[in-house]
Amino acid sequence: MESSIINHSREDFLAQLEANGRKPSWIVEEMRTEAQRMKKASEVAAAQALREARRMQESARKMPQPQETEGKFEVRFAQVLVEIMTGRPTIAKPDMIMMPEPEKFEPLALVLSSTEQFYYRVTPSHCPCQGWYWSNVRYGIGKCRHHTQAFPEVAKENTRRIEQIKSQKKTQTGRRSAQ
Ligand SMILES: [Zn+2]
Repeated sequence: MESSIINHSREDFLAQLEANGRKPSWIVEEMRTEAQRMKKASEVAAAQALREARRMQESARKMPQPQETEGKFEVRFAQVLVEIMTGRPTIAKPDMIMMPEPEKFEPLALVLSSTEQFYYRVTPSHCPCQGWYWSNVRYGIGKCRHHTQAFPEVAKENTRRIEQIKSQKKTQTGRRSAQ
């Protein structure tokens, strides 16, 4: 009984196809068309995404870029930072602010400049001031007041190495003038 119903409906189906002037292979055709439509749609989506990405890139370029600080910060920024860390506003201007969490990051201190206008961002291996820069140019080793204040142990070692280089230079100059 059942099979005859199926056969019957299939015949109806085929008859309907005939009536619509379509061959049974139309399903394959439809599927192919659908696949092409989807491919096209995904290409359009990809193109749209690319356009969006370019647009975002463009607007990022137009946004103001962060200013290069060169490791030198106005006093008020250091005070804001202290407020961020302690939860209390401050107008204090200590000569040095040791930063917390040295086990996670490189030890860091903010050291007040002699003009008391700025804080220098000082680490065991760097100070952004002129004194440090020129010491580095001259001896290949940095040394300055801020670094000595923040990291006296490292500074002592740097001083020892600089003294060594100085005395070597003196010996060389002495030999040259003796010749
Ligand atoms: Zn310095």
